[in-house]
Amino acid sequence: MVNLSRRDFLSFCAKITALIGLESTFVPQIAEGVSKLINNAPPVIWLQGQSCSGCSVSLLNSYAPGPAELITRYISLKFHSTLSTATGDVAMDTLNQVIKDGGYFLVFEGSVPSKMPEACLMGHVPVSEILSDAAKNSEGIIAVGTCASFGGIPAAENNPTGAISVPLFLKNENINKPTILLPGCPAHPDWIVGTLVHMIKFGLPPLDAKGRPKMFFAKLIHEQCPRFSDYEREKFAKTFTDKGCLFRLGCIGPNTYADCTIRYWNSRINSCIPSGAPCIGCASEDFAIKANFPFFRKGEEKKI
Ligand code: SF4
Ligand code: SF4
Repeated sequence: MVNLSRRDFLSFCAKITALIGLESTFVPQIAEGVSKLINNAPPVIWLQGQSCSGCSVSLLNSYAPGPAELITRYISLKFHSTLSTATGDVAMDTLNQVIKDGGYFLVFEGSVPSKMPEACLMGHVPVSEILSDAAKNSEGIIAVGTCASFGGIPAAENNPTGAISVPLFLKNENINKPTILLPGCPAHPDWIVGTLVHMIKFGLPPLDAKGRPKMFFAKLIHEQCPRFSDYEREKFAKTFTDKGCLFRLGCIGPNTYADCTIRYWNSRINSCIPSGAPCIGCASEDFAIKANFPFFRKGEEKKI
């Protein structure tokens, strides 16, 4: 368990307030919400379907709070497919008990194999069955990552397992629960932490038409890009090490809603475009779906 001084606690609350896009006048309310989290940590279960565990790794890269604080202090992570220390029957018994008790938030990472349930099992049970039970008894669902939000890489063309997103799965199963999408391959840790805090303190955050929190996904990467003035002046990079807009190297920031270019990754150190890599649209619903649309493309000509 991590101990915080009052000063550190308020500093942490100020960071969370900024993280979810609120003004500093909201710090007391956030402090109240975080205290509630500490004293009465709401149960969270985190399940994985067809995923690479990248979003779990991203959560472990969270910055404020850090992963140890987050998991041991601010949320009661009752079950996580990768991080739980229990294995085998003990792990499955724990999960089944939490589902039976209800009152938890469900985080789901990865897509769901709708045509090949045996492609993804937990304790010999298809994950689709576990998701159905867990979703029905939850207070709300957060689909973390592009696979859970839109299908992502497992749903790429040919899609032998019939991989589908969590919202489509819930619709097919007639399950109607508050559902938030946090696309990204992986999802940014701030998006996960900020969404959990918002849900617990204020309820559902304002969402766009696709179910993404507006506080993170209201604007295009393109609109917030440090190379936007190069785009306007038609100063295009010819190689990844050039200065200039990366559009002609395949950047699809103009079609991708996320705030990476102002939030930055890896403890605010860098992000794709500032480091010379075009945005490959990992938070977009079209990500990796079409075989004839590679991540990097040379010679894009048309301006938007
Ligand atoms: S095309 Fe890409 S690099 Fe160019 S301004 Fe838009 S987001 Fe930035
Ligand atoms: S800039 Fe684009 S490719 Fe990079 S993390 Fe953000 S959405 Fe994904």
